[in-house]
Amino acid sequence: MSDDNNKNRSHEFCSSCRRSESVTGPLIRMPGNINICRDCLQRSIDSAMQMTGGDLSMLLNPMGMDPGLSQMLFNLQDTSVEKAEEETPEPPEEEPEEGSEEEKEEKNGRTNRPPMGFSMMMTPEEFQSFFGQHKKRTPKKDPDRKPVVDLSKIPAPHKIYEMLSEYVVGQEKAKKAISVAVYNHYKRIANDDKDIDIEKSNMLMIGPTGSGKTFLVKTLAKLLDVPLAIADATSLTEAGYIGDDIESVVSKLLAAADNDVEKAETGIVFIDEIDKLARKRNATQRDVSGESVQQGLLKLLEGAEIEVPVGANSKNAMVPLETVNTKNILFICGGAFPDLEDIIKERLNEKSSMGFNADLKDKYDNVDVLQYVETEDLRKFGMIPEFIGRMPVIFTLQGMTKAMLIRVLKEPKNAIINQYQRLLQMDEVELLFTEDAYEAIAEKALKKDTGARALRSIIEEFMLDIMFEIPKDENIGRVTITKEYINGTGGPVIELRTESLPRITDQRP
Ligand code: ADP
Repeated sequence: MSDDNNKNRSHEFCSSCRRSESVTGPLIRMPGNINICRDCLQRSIDSAMQMTGGDLSMLLNPMGMDPGLSQMLFNLQDTSVEKAEEETPEPPEEEPEEGSEEEKEEKNGRTNRPPMGFSMMMTPEEFQSFFGQHKKRTPKKDPDRKPVVDLSKIPAPHKIYEMLSEYVVGQEKAKKAISVAVYNHYKRIANDDKDIDIEKSNMLMIGPTGSGKTFLVKTLAKLLDVPLAIADATSLTEAGYIGDDIESVVSKLLAAADNDVEKAETGIVFIDEIDKLARKRNATQRDVSGESVQQGLLKLLEGAEIEVPVGANSKNAMVPLETVNTKNILFICGGAFPDLEDIIKERLNEKSSMGFNADLKDKYDNVDVLQYVETEDLRKFGMIPEFIGRMPVIFTLQGMTKAMLIRVLKEPKNAIINQYQRLLQMDEVELLFTEDAYEAIAEKALKKDTGARALRSIIEEFMLDIMFEIPKDENIGRVTITKEYINGTGGPVIELRTESLPRITDQRP
């Protein structure tokens, strides 16, 4: 190429990202003065692969085709074929050589086929090898490395339950169920008996907002020291749509495991708001969006090799990929499942209204019917049977009562009130609450109808003034929060330091 030619080229830009050729490297030239850099082309191809699930032949179907993209791919195909024809001298008419086409290509050191990447007939693997950057890193299995799960380090179910109880108040059934399921899960991973394949114990947690679903999983992962990824089902979409694609939950887990694939492969994924993926009942049109995300999740729940980008949440040309097997990842799904109670009641009432011993219709009105949930009810709610089938452990959490809220305030190891007491203790001030102050906080929280979630905001609101005012006066030795202060009808009781109330030392509450 002449110098002039080179100069001109360095002034050419990628039509998509507008970077100059000197930055992008050689541009791919297409009819209509369109130039495109490898990165942008790769990105388009990635989107095409995502949209078609790797089957690019689908793009030939005009019904499912993005017109811009298909035009571009066709243009590419045409130019490359033309170019290949221009550049490839007519094959001399000679005796056909022995051996296959591929062997001949190998011998000649080049191929007569149009360059890869421009042919619609390419396989995804050919795309990857053409663009080079998407080199799949196969996980290096170090033969000396000990298995990630050492069963002797996983506490027995009653120990897990006890540890959870230090932080999570009430929800006894849920704590028991989760302790057993987790223990079995790690036993399953450690199981080396090839003849007995222990079923995966993915879990479904059903409980109202603020009943401690997320908190339970977070506490569990911390206690077991395993990586945890939390995703919101409402942000998950099928590949190709705006939002996080389903596989992004695995890349979150990989990030939580500091990119250690083996650690991630035995981690926990919590998918919240799973009920939002339910097919809409009584809808005139079939609602497929949530349902197809449920379908998409099936393979993750069951166990699949997923290629995930390292250090980013989208696959593109610049990001290396890792392969993560989800076979041993514990999936816990959670949701509030509003109206599920009605479905359960309907079923229970239907049963009991049959026969001679027909019960009263309102028999279940004041009962926590969620505990009687069956897969049939979840199916009615709109979850697909295959999805429910992959979550063999189903348990429910109770909605927060006033008594439970008061316990949440007082009992957990890291209760919010303990945290404030500790903060003030550092200023040598004692923080106390009267019993009726606890009750007033719980009553306020109940009104918000967001379970224990409301507690923090209520406490933060009234503690703001205390935290601002108290350090102003060195002489304050004790603050007692009263019901009147919570309800805005009075102030806290402030006591000055005296001989009978000496400075408190730095003791933990
Ligand atoms: P959910 O996921 O069920 O909507 P969360 O787990 O997010 O609810 O609960 C919100 C907060 O409320 C938690 O961070 C935790 O501090 C507190 N909390 C909820 N339930 C409990 C509980 N049973 N014991 C102790 N704290 C709880």
